[in-house]
Amino acid sequence: MDINKNNDEYIIIVGCGRLGSHLANLLSKERKSVVVIDKDEKAFDRLSDEFSGFTIEADAIEIDTLIKAKIERADVVAATTNDDNTNIMIAQIAKTIYGVPKVIARLFEPSREKVYEELEVETICPTTLSAIEFKSIILKEEEK
Ligand code: AMP
Repeated sequence: MDINKNNDEYIIIVGCGRLGSHLANLLSKERKSVVVIDKDEKAFDRLSDEFSGFTIEADAIEIDTLIKAKIERADVVAATTNDDNTNIMIAQIAKTIYGVPKVIARLFEPSREKVYEELEVETICPTTLSAIEFKSIILKEEEK
């Protein structure tokens, strides 16, 4: 497998569920080099027919999986599994062991945001984002 054959940005997405697959499809459309990892083979069914990246069926908690994905060459790692502990562990490995320049993690529990901040890992918290959107719609409705 010759991943990352061109010199452009190389992105690893961990988790190919509702979030990771959507992100992978969007980035692939932008012609980025994308590798998606998921432990469940069926998860890759969510990738579009146009997806031009690579897939790795394995548990991303295992360091060999990240090595197989050539994490040492990654410009970006997006940890999008449905488990905060898994995402923080992957983010930590990517940042501290492999020095990946940009690491972004999905985080369900907003109170854990501080831990990521200390690691200089950016977080996307769907819980917080949803609350902001709900609030905005509710307040807009009230203005009418
Ligand atoms: P979703 O919540 O729909 O975005 O799905 C999350 C995805 O993360 C699922 O497809 C899971 O199989 C995947 N996932 C969870 N833990 C791991 C892991 N340790 N390694 C690889 N994939 C994982």
